Amino acid sequence: MPHDPDAFARFTDERLIPNAGAWDQAEHLDDEIVKDLAAARWLVPTLPEAAGGTGMDVETYGLLSEELGRGCGSVRNLVAVQGMVAHAILRWGSKDLADRWAPAIGTGTTIGAFALTEPDVGSDARNGTTTARAVPGGYEITGRKKWISFAQRAGVFLVFAQLDGDPAAFVVERDTPGLTVSPISGLLGLRASELGEVVLDAVEVPASNLLSHGRLTFDLVATSSLDYGRFSTACGCVGLAQACLTASLDYTRDRVQFGVPLAEHQLVRRALTEMITSVEAARLLCRQAGTMRATSHRDAIRQTLIAKYAASRTAFDVATNAVQLHGANGIGSGFPVQRHLRDAKIQEIIEGTTQIQQLQIADLTLARH
Ligand SMILES: Cc1cc2nc3c(=O)[nH]c(=O)nc-3n(C[C@H](O)[C@H](O)[C@H](O)COP(=O)(O)OP(=O)(O)OC[C@H]3O[C@@H](n4cnc5c(N)ncnc54)[C@H](O)[C@@H]3O)c2cc1C
Repeated sequence: MPHDPDAFARFTDERLIPNAGAWDQAEHLDDEIVKDLAAARWLVPTLPEAAGGTGMDVETYGLLSEELGRGCGSVRNLVAVQGMVAHAILRWGSKDLADRWAPAIGTGTTIGAFALTEPDVGSDARNGTTTARAVPGGYEITGRKKWISFAQRAGVFLVFAQLDGDPAAFVVERDTPGLTVSPISGLLGLRASELGEVVLDAVEVPASNLLSHGRLTFDLVATSSLDYGRFSTACGCVGLAQACLTASLDYTRDRVQFGVPLAEHQLVRRALTEMITSVEAARLLCRQAGTMRATSHRDAIRQTLIAKYAASRTAFDVATNAVQLHGANGIGSGFPVQRHLRDAKIQEIIEGTTQIQQLQIADLTLARH
């Protein structure tokens, strides 16, 4: 299926930008946007067509993520999470699991959620305390997962737990007895990501719902899913920063102070130049990561970490500058930059915090040195 990057921009201009502020206020996406994404096959566009995607190549997926991020961070997050869950099931699950869930998520029939983080275990995710034990016919899972994007809407969860001392990943359906979801509201940013806390109280799943178990499960399933989501987040940060830059160019051209447009003041131009340069630099890092991912370059994971680290910091810096250049209007609801600033902070926490990436990038580089 051909992919038209102009269509991504049109979708963002027509469907996301006019509505993202309302979704942020409501702390919810509306169902229509999820249907529109599903109709375009953009929920998991990188899935093969037979599995409900469009077979989109990874570089084009980066462009889509950038455009979605320009309009609405939560929509971009929805698309990233669907990809993380569907690809993990397709790659690591049995044929039955893959046939059942990948197309369901790809076509939007079911929304997926990625349940790794726990109330007391975030960055140290390898040491989760959720446990599973074998019972006749399957497994029983007990534990808590917190800060789970789209848990409120999800019909299926990819749950990580410890089984016999090794990590395991399970597919857990929402209506399984013992599974409950409590909405988490009042967030700073990504407010329309419909977060939830998921309690698993002796939840029984059939043996066939075990996706992976063993010493390498965390590295294979969790790490590769986070790597997929991280690329989307990096590209989305470029879109967010671009939105802030565009808004600032418009505003400083139109707003007059001291008898001339703001953009005529040298200090304002300096701020704009800093923003322009850092957006371009972050975009190039993301494009390079996309190319390396497309060619399965041995450094693709490291490059994706670098892109996410740099782009998320850029997004926050550019959004802060944008709010400053807008003055009091920057913190009002009439301009999107305050939402982007709030969303930008979250990008430095999800898919690996800035500090964890500072450790990982140096570790991987030193190991290669
Ligand atoms: C909007 C949103 C959506 C999310 N969606 C999901 C989801 O869908 N699924 C999911 O599983 N999780 C999700 N998360 C959780 C997210 O992955 C975690 O918040 C993240 O991994 C950080 O964990 P934590 O919040 O427990 O922070 P902690 O790990 O407790 O870290 C707190 C602070 O300490 C720093 N820190 C931690 N360890 C070190 C170290 N070794 N050295 C230096 N500094 C360190 C961190 O960088 C951070 O600044 C989401 C979070 C948010 C905010």
